[in-house]
Amino acid sequence: MIEITKTNIEKAINKARQTKPFVKVIEFRLYSVTNKTTGANYTVKFTKINNRKFAQCDCKSGQQGKFLCYHVGAAIGVHIVLAEQMNTATA
Ligand SMILES: [Zn+2]
Repeated sequence: MIEITKTNIEKAINKARQTKPFVKVIEFRLYSVTNKTTGANYTVKFTKINNRKFAQCDCKSGQQGKFLCYHVGAAIGVHIVLAEQMNTATA
């Protein structure tokens, strides 16, 4: 699990913009990310602990836990939209 910071998520989002993977919602905070070119599919999970945000991906770099991969960068875009919708719904 890697803590999400402003710096590392920006890098991940930029990489995702270049790769443009397909993101599918499994459930809130759980996303399936597919590379359209290779067909490789990974699962990204977001966790919130004491107001700190963490991300987990089952790809190789995600497993190493050194940096946020582009799967996380792609999934967070969908996650933010979903989270906003949920906030609006409960408000
Ligand atoms: Zn990944």
